[in-house]
Amino acid sequence: MSMHVHVRLRHALAITDDGHLIEELRCKCGATWTHVHQVDGGRPER
Ligand SMILES: [Zn+2]
Repeated sequence: MSMHVHVRLRHALAITDDGHLIEELRCKCGATWTHVHQVDGGRPER
């Protein structure tokens, strides 16, 4: 299997009721990532 460098394209954005920004990224190979950002003025937590 050859090396594949994922290309993360933004697929969707959503904001939850409690102020979190959900960012969904998708590569053309089918891999997906979900990033959660706190837009509430707080620092990112994980
Ligand atoms: Zn990929």
